[in-house]
Amino acid sequence: MDSKEFRHEGYRLIDWIADYLDHAENHHVLSQVQPGDIDARIPASAPLQGQHMSDILDDFERDILPGVTHWNHPRFFAYFPANNSGPSILGELLSAGLGVNAMLWQTSPAATELEQRMMIWLAELIGLPAGFHGVIQDTASTATLCALLCAREKTTAFAFNARGPEALSPDGPLRIYCSTEAHSSVVKGARIAGFGDRNIVQVKTDGNRALDPADLQARIDADRQAGLTPCCIVATVGTTSTTAIDPLPAIGPIARTEELWLHVDAALAGSAAILPEKRWLLEGVEHADSLVFNPHKWLFVNFDCSAFYVRDPAHLERVMAIDPAYLQTDRDNQVTNFRDWGIQLGRRFRALKLWFVLRSYGAENLRAMLAEHIALAAEFKSWVEDDPDWELLAPVPLNTVCFRLHPVGFQGDDDELNSLNKDLMNRVNRAGRIYLTHTVLDGRYTLRMSIGQTGTRRRHVEEAWEELREKARQQS
Ligand code: PLP
Repeated sequence: MDSKEFRHEGYRLIDWIADYLDHAENHHVLSQVQPGDIDARIPASAPLQGQHMSDILDDFERDILPGVTHWNHPRFFAYFPANNSGPSILGELLSAGLGVNAMLWQTSPAATELEQRMMIWLAELIGLPAGFHGVIQDTASTATLCALLCAREKTTAFAFNARGPEALSPDGPLRIYCSTEAHSSVVKGARIAGFGDRNIVQVKTDGNRALDPADLQARIDADRQAGLTPCCIVATVGTTSTTAIDPLPAIGPIARTEELWLHVDAALAGSAAILPEKRWLLEGVEHADSLVFNPHKWLFVNFDCSAFYVRDPAHLERVMAIDPAYLQTDRDNQVTNFRDWGIQLGRRFRALKLWFVLRSYGAENLRAMLAEHIALAAEFKSWVEDDPDWELLAPVPLNTVCFRLHPVGFQGDDDELNSLNKDLMNRVNRAGRIYLTHTVLDGRYTLRMSIGQTGTRRRHVEEAWEELREKARQQS
């Protein structure tokens, strides 16, 4: 591709993206294809001869786009937001244009120094106390894995890194404590870091589905009695199912007294702490050793961009650093080399899109957009509460409403009520006007409205409520 074609097709692509974002709501939110449909449209093998970009873009629209589920859609209410924005897309494009690998300071000083400054900006915005140092990771899952590795090496005084699992005897397996509502990435991280599934201790939750500190303490005590080795607590601020908030002010002192690593997973909810009225979310975070939150979920930075903070970067570096001759530079003792702050060596220049977003919107606009999402969730909650055929199933501290259809006079048993809701959700999603997903709370099939896409306005939430009620009426 010469620069003439690049320019031409590049302008065309930017036009396409701008139109797409303007008219995202013309698409079905959830892709309607069947398994294998898209694969059937793609040639079995790579072409021998180069093809024109204009043909490739045409094929994208014809063959690939039908298989896209539209996370940018203003009626996307599934899972959690992965919101996006013009400034972020431009930052991503520029990063791709530069093609930088930000593994070392020297391999692009600007990438490292902008990343450091962006982590400071973000820390200030969410009100992190002084003393945390940040790095961008690809995902919260990776950040949590890094935290578990740090915890493991703290407890074993770096013996696990040196000797592997044999370093554990005679002290017994290392134990991780998190609530029954913690995200699956804790289990995955525990597997990868060599803890093993059975060493994840699931702590009870209270009526709000937040971790119960008394049960945490009891389980740590029981483990010590049994000769096991408590190692790490993972607290969740904003659980995946219901956005429950684990009580850091009570968990923190337990972590300190017991000398356990405290990792805070605030993947979604951390962004909300930019709102002064939501600062309480991170109260007690001063006790934490590490924290992650995802600007790629709810801060208008497109996927991927996770902010990972640690109190003791020297510890993180000691856990991660491997220092082959070919990566050494004569500046190593003057600078930060982010290759030693995570799992990957090669790193993308993600700070650019964060810089674009934070500058382009400014804190006030970001706050206004998050406040609107939270207000819309509160309004949706009130509609559910006011309609006798529907039932609210969890508190709504942020942007996510957990609810179900429970028609007045419904005669069926619990299983039938679950089937009714599952069927409703599937029919709503197949219709393609809105997309929402579910969780299960105490055996109850629960619908979730997660409100947080960039283009979502009140009318989209109203349309969702209409669609749900309409499909429920058709069902009865
Ligand atoms: N932690 C929590 C609380 C989450 O809700 C999620 C996403 O659902 C994750 C972690 C995983 O995020 P990521 O996709 O960035 O690994």
